[in-house]
Amino acid sequence: MTTYTPMMQQYLTIKSEYEDAFLFYRLGDFYELFFEDAVNASQILEITLTSRDAGSKDRVPMCGVPHHSAQNYIETLVSKGYKVAICEQTEDPKQSKGVVKREVVQLITPGTLMEGKTIDGKSNHYIASAEQLTKETFSLAYLDVSTGESKTTIVEGGIKSLLQQLISLNIRELVVTEQLQILLEEPAKNLSLVLSLEKEVMPIEKSGKYIEQLPENLQGVAKSLLQYVERTQMRSLSHIQPFTYTETKQLLRIDSNSKRNLELLQSIRGGDQKGTLLWLLDETVTAMGGRKLKQMLHQPLANRKLIEERLSIVTDLLDEFFVRDELQELLKKVYDLERLAGRVAFGNVGGRDLAQLRESLRQVPHIKEQLLQSGKETLIQLGNSLDECNEIEELLSRAITDHPPIAIKEGDVIRDGYDEKLDELRYAARNGKDWIAQLEQKERELTGIKNLKIGYNRVFGYFIEITKSNIANADLTRYERKQTLANAERYITEELKQKEAIILNAEEQSLALEYDLFVELREQLKEFIPRVQALASKISELDVFISFAVVSEKYRFTKPTFHEGRALKIINGRHPVVEKMLNKQMYVPNDCVLTEDKNMMLITGPNMSGKSTFMRQVALIVVLAQIGCYVPAEEAELPIIDQIFTRIGAADDLVAGQSTFMVEMLESQNAITNATEKSLLLFDEIGRGTSTYDGMALAQSMMEYIHNKIGANTLFSTHYHELTALEQQLPKLKNVHVSATEKDGKVVFLHKVREGAADKSYGVHVAKLAEMPDEIIERAQTLLNQFESKEIEVASTNVEADELQLSLFEEVQQPSELSNIELEVIGKLEKMNIMGTSPIQAINILYELQQTL
Ligand code: ADP
Repeated sequence: MTTYTPMMQQYLTIKSEYEDAFLFYRLGDFYELFFEDAVNASQILEITLTSRDAGSKDRVPMCGVPHHSAQNYIETLVSKGYKVAICEQTEDPKQSKGVVKREVVQLITPGTLMEGKTIDGKSNHYIASAEQLTKETFSLAYLDVSTGESKTTIVEGGIKSLLQQLISLNIRELVVTEQLQILLEEPAKNLSLVLSLEKEVMPIEKSGKYIEQLPENLQGVAKSLLQYVERTQMRSLSHIQPFTYTETKQLLRIDSNSKRNLELLQSIRGGDQKGTLLWLLDETVTAMGGRKLKQMLHQPLANRKLIEERLSIVTDLLDEFFVRDELQELLKKVYDLERLAGRVAFGNVGGRDLAQLRESLRQVPHIKEQLLQSGKETLIQLGNSLDECNEIEELLSRAITDHPPIAIKEGDVIRDGYDEKLDELRYAARNGKDWIAQLEQKERELTGIKNLKIGYNRVFGYFIEITKSNIANADLTRYERKQTLANAERYITEELKQKEAIILNAEEQSLALEYDLFVELREQLKEFIPRVQALASKISELDVFISFAVVSEKYRFTKPTFHEGRALKIINGRHPVVEKMLNKQMYVPNDCVLTEDKNMMLITGPNMSGKSTFMRQVALIVVLAQIGCYVPAEEAELPIIDQIFTRIGAADDLVAGQSTFMVEMLESQNAITNATEKSLLLFDEIGRGTSTYDGMALAQSMMEYIHNKIGANTLFSTHYHELTALEQQLPKLKNVHVSATEKDGKVVFLHKVREGAADKSYGVHVAKLAEMPDEIIERAQTLLNQFESKEIEVASTNVEADELQLSLFEEVQQPSELSNIELEVIGKLEKMNIMGTSPIQAINILYELQQTL
């Protein structure tokens, strides 16, 4: 090391503390990278790799980026999962002896990036930390450095659930202890999740106020996150809000697979948000509102009181549409208060940001007035809770010009009259300029040269310029020549130079003072951050509620009602997203009625008839209701659901095979082990990924288990027609089917859910429509009948083999002497419409029944 130049030694010392980051080392107007950093960065950023003599035998690899365009490069690196340490010169090079002092002033990491094109205004950008509490539970803390929001939660269900949670919160960086680092190393690679080790926790003297609301077992994880953020950001964290914890029982829990299956926030196909519930619901007009809506969708409520409070606000906003429209117009003029508050805290707020803050605050009294005048209880309450933050608005109005530039060192930020000293300096500078204009006039008269002019440039300062053609006739003895141009000469006079010193001095001083005043103001604003944040939170909620009202009106939603039981009644419900996407066709509304004694549905029907849409529609209505929005139905009486589980065929179902089937089983296992009687379960086409008997057996045993052991509201769809026989065994189960018919020889899907099982010979029926030769149709019918009789035997053996199931079953229902097959025959006879059956058909049915026995 001693062979290196002193500067390179300094570099290496600093770099040794930031092994895992690219060190951006400030050298004049550039940030330079050396050694391996340079080799790697030059490839990633596609910039030229050079080298530098650094005192050693070999030249040192080097690459660099200009400091004014560094932001882009930093962002590129960070968005690819790297960290960047920014090392600045911390003393004035002019005043330093030897190597200029340098220090790392910030470590930018994927989770702490605050601005740039990768940061979407309507999304939170969280960094998280996790700790293992027990074998299967983890504590998780997450915070958005740009807005200061911070939350904690407990994740049950092992590492798998933890990872799912991280995915659904879109976490890019996770702060961990060593033990967890080892555990997560592999999965993190697959998810391109950056793991950052933090060995220490923030001491309680400092962390106290952030964690006081947390239960003890969540404090540790919050403290290590705080420690990491402070260590990397190296500046004020005054905008970080106290961590909050919402008990899981207050929330409707939906695991991240189900969130994806239901397309709440992301569509299954990936890509943009089109087709998601968020896409339908987002009529927010502020970035904060957009984020709040996502948070609400992410965590729907399970607390009836809170849900009903939200719903009443929506009702009032629907009634007072005039107020609502006014409010929305006002909200459009409100900027991102949360991120502005974050920038104030971080000290990177500019003049324009403060003008935006002021403009936003100016809307608040109007918003408040609208709410207070609405005459609606909930809105008046909301209005009263808004803090207008008068002092801040007033301070900013006094201090900041109407249209400040983005830069804060070039003047025009601080308003005249704000500071006496600044006014004086500005006066001196402006006055001096007037004096120069007068001097120009005077010199023209004295010399008689009309186009004589006084100019200014950085090198020579002020000068008098006379074109060459005028020089010969003029008396220029008072002038001192300074510069010769092609067709003019430039002069100065003693008087001009004296004045110049005053003007420039005043200008320089006024800019410097303006900057100081700005920094002072920025400091002063820090104390108001919590108030601005509280305001931001209210405003963003209002934005969301207005969005709910707008959507509810636009798509004719109705207000759901809740009760304490388990029954669920949706009359003429619709899938709002499918409905919106259908262009010409009409959406066919459907009822879903589950009662205390019949709370499982088995849905049959041909492919594409609408089974899956029907199931999703029920789940979406529950989610919408529990975030406090109206729902797409004519009537909805709902229980408070605690968890939704789905096993819904996604696009991956098309790729049949072991792994897909495994996914299916894992999802089902998750549902079955975690569901309670207050949960909602959706099982679409269970057992599809395996052989018929296998799949059917699994589907049946799962249904029996849910029926007997869990008791959750459940919708089950299947193409195993045989399963419809279960209706006779499981008293809480009812069969429904989605109907289809034929028109002009074509299959027409009616998408209408009806009582009873679907017509089982549907496939044969379609073949008939396709004018398949009669002989084939008849033969197929006979074979079908034979297959069926065999399958029923299988189904019944399954039940009998399972003694536990049978005994349970006997407890629930009256002991029955009849076999499954007999029950099936009775069921068929009961359903037969004798008056509408021709003699030939009757003979066929009798034949069929005989075959069954
Ligand atoms: P399945 O699950 O029975 O195969 P889907 O639920 O996927 O069928 O529905 C297939 C298509 O039918 C949907 O993409 C949608 O376009 C249409 N569809 C479903 N339900 C309805 C409905 N109630 N009204 C109108 N169209 C519907």
